[in-house]
Parts: sequence; structure tokens; C-alpha cells
Amino acid sequence: MSSAVVQAAVAGGGTVGLACALLLNRRCGWDVALVERSPPRKAEGKRGAEGKAPQRALSLSPGAAELLAECGLQPGNEGGTPSLPGHAFSRMVVWRGEGPPAPGNSITFDAAELGVKALGSVAHEAPLRRSLWDLADDCAGIRVYSGTELASVRIKEDCGYFDLDNGEEVAAELLVGADGAQSKLRSALGIEFHARGYGQTGLVFEADCGERGGDTAWQRFSDDGTLALLPLSESRFSIVWSLPDERAERLRQLDGEGLMAELNEAGASVAGELTPATPIASFPLRRGRAARASGERYALVGEAARTVHPLAGQGLNLGLGDAGALSRVCSEQGDALIGDARVLDRFARERARYGEEMSLGIHAINAAFEGALAPLAALALGAVDRLPPLKRVLAERAMR
Ligand SMILES: Cc1cc2nc3c(=O)[nH]c(=O)nc-3n(C[C@H](O)[C@H](O)[C@H](O)COP(=O)(O)OP(=O)(O)OC[C@H]3O[C@@H](n4cnc5c(N)ncnc54)[C@H](O)[C@@H]3O)c2cc1C
Repeated sequence: MSSAVVQAAVAGGGTVGLACALLLNRRCGWDVALVERSPPRKAEGKRGAEGKAPQRALSLSPGAAELLAECGLQPGNEGGTPSLPGHAFSRMVVWRGEGPPAPGNSITFDAAELGVKALGSVAHEAPLRRSLWDLADDCAGIRVYSGTELASVRIKEDCGYFDLDNGEEVAAELLVGADGAQSKLRSALGIEFHARGYGQTGLVFEADCGERGGDTAWQRFSDDGTLALLPLSESRFSIVWSLPDERAERLRQLDGEGLMAELNEAGASVAGELTPATPIASFPLRRGRAARASGERYALVGEAARTVHPLAGQGLNLGLGDAGALSRVCSEQGDALIGDARVLDRFARERARYGEEMSLGIHAINAAFEGALAPLAALALGAVDRLPPLKRVLAERAMR
């Protein structure tokens, strides 16, 4: 069964797909169809309860927060709709070496020094997605196809089509793939995905810290891997620990006390004693890129276009940046050329340049901090810390 042709159809209602649908509707005034096979449940708006699997926590850059505000989410407390969930942090300390950070092996970014209110915020992804979902569901210009899956894709001269597994057909002038790292749209169009594993696993869980959380994010590089402590509140951190596969597997098998001891040793007590508060979730880490992110009548955004190592916490920020750039390029071009490959190519080139720089940068940091160059990398951190202009450039890039 087919319905009227809309200007854009987005496959995937994850955080990036939802933001993309909302921005295309708001900036371009388009009617948009959104297809999502696993809609968020009501309970996903709430924080992970004690003992339950941890929710993925994300660090949002100020640039990403601005795009989310444009989608209709204003900064506020978790739970309310349509508020932008998140806990702001104003300091970030990155270091490499034995023990806690020290001058010479660390770099500290400080919001006050940079003249901004916050360096970013940390939010659970589930309530963020839930709030965006509610906005899309309430939006007259967005038709949500929920609980059904993109089965196949056809592109004709004047229109593209999604065939859904419930038998419905969605026709649109522009098809957007926001359906994640295993994108069906990407594979249906025969676009290769060049991916490489790091031989590392990301362990994600939450840990309580008394009252020493608050406004500082910490990141420690060591021979073993990278530990990020992202403040979720005054008393809780989200832990993202990237480790060689074997060591990650050993840590996953530890009991609470064993894990606590390893965590506190790795964190060098910078945030007081950390007590794991949720079970561990784990993810294989890969870096990958679609061979093409646009063509006649289609564009790829978010993890459908690329995946990056989580060490810099930039995956979602990059995806939201894609949604912002695609909707900007489309709104600048006007409606005569919707789906035109030349217009979409402008979007793809802009994002490829930025995404590749970011991805390569993250890859290089990972290689340098964990390989033979590690001692030099620690020195470089200390050196950059003493060079305010370079430090500012780095910080401004990360805040985009
Ligand atoms: C361990 C780890 C830690 C991370 N930490 C951070 C961080 O701190 N900061 C950060 O910015 N990023 C982080 N990331 C990355 C971030 O989580 C992702 O970039 C982000 O979730 C990707 O969003 P997305 O919407 O592109 O894809 P997804 O979240 O994968 O969404 C894709 C959506 O498409 C739907 N879908 C898929 N196939 C179909 C189909 N055929 N039909 C219909 N629907 C379909 C899925 O159900 C899903 O809802 C981390 C990633 C990992 C692995």
C-alpha cells in the first residue's frame, strides 16, 4: 500500500534519525516519513535503576546541544518532555602516565578559560531519544512508521521508495539512511563499508563516587587502554573503558570488589573511591566509513555513514552534525532540487572532510597513546597544556 510522495523519508529513528527528521521538517518545511523498527518504550525515559543494565551515556558538545535545541529540546532536567537531558561539565582533564595527572603529562580544558559556560554535557541516550521521539510523534509534518522494518529500497528517476516489511510503501524525493552501523539502506544500494576492528572492547557501566563527581570529566590513557569518567551527576560517573579484548573479557568476569579495585587503580582516585553501580555492557570497537555517503536521491548520516572509536566521545556529535549539515544544505538549495546528487554531494564532501579529520585524529590518538609513542604522547599533552592558543583550537574543535 503506498501513500502520497513526501519530500524526505528517513530510515532509522535512533537519536540521529529523529534529529534529522525534525531538522528537515523545521528548516526546510518538508513533510517527512520516519521508519523505525524498535520504537523507544515509555520506561526508557527514566534513568537506569540500580542493578539494571547501564544505559549508554553520551557526552554532547555545545554544537550538538544547539542542534537539539533547534529540534525543540531545551536544556532541563531528565524526565520532563521536551527537555534536553544532561549534566553539564566545565572541566576536562586528560592524562597519560602512572598515578594521577601531573604537570607535564596532562592537559586541562577549562570552560572559564575558554570563555564558555560549559565544555559539554553528559546525558543518557535513552531519555534523549525518547524526548526526540515524542517531538517527532507530535509533529504534524512527520509521519512515523513504527515497529516496522525497511525491507528493500528502490530508486527511480523522480522518486525513491522504501518497501516496509508490513507491506507498506513509502515514496519520497530524498531517502536518508540513519539506520545505524548495519544500515540496510546502505547495503541495499550496494555501498561498501570499509571497517577495521581495533581488537578492543568498550566496557560501559556506571559508578558512584560519593560527592566528588560534578563538573569534571576525566580521561586517562595507559598501556592497558583508555578510561573515561563522564560525570552524570554530583555522585555518579558513566564509565567508558576501552581495553584490549582479552583484558576486557577478564574484567567482565570479575565480581564487584575485584572490578572496583581495578577501576580505582586505573582511575588513580581522581574522583574519590568509585563503586560500580550497574552491570557491565560491552561493545566491540571498530572504525569504519561508507565508500559513498550520497548520490541521486539518497544521503547517509550518523553510524550509517561512519563509526568512530568512542575514546573522544564524538560518535553522536558527528551524527548530529550530519543531520545539521544535510538540513542546512537542503534548505539553502530550495525545493527545486530535492534529492539532486550535486546538492547532496556538497553535504557529503563537507561531512567527509570533517568526519575523516575527526576519525583519523581519534585513531592517531589511540595509536600514539597505546603504542611505542606513548611516552612522547604524554609529553605532548603537557606541552600543549602550556600553549594556550593550540589548546584553544583543540577545545573549539571538540565543542563543535
Ligand atoms: C561503547 C560506546 C560508547 C559511546 N560513547 C559515546 C559518547 O560518549 N559520545 C558520543 O557522541 N557517541 C558515543 N558513542 C557513539 C553513539 O552511541 C552512536 O554514534 C550513536 O548512538 C549512533 O546513532 P545513530 O542514530 O546513527 O545509530 P543508532 O543509534 O544505531 O540508530 C539506528 C536506528 O535505526 C533503526 N534501524 C536499523 N535498521 C533498521 C531497518 N532496517 N528498518 C528500520 N529501522 C532500522 C534501529 O532500530 C535504530 O533505532 C558510543 C558508542 C559506543 C559503542
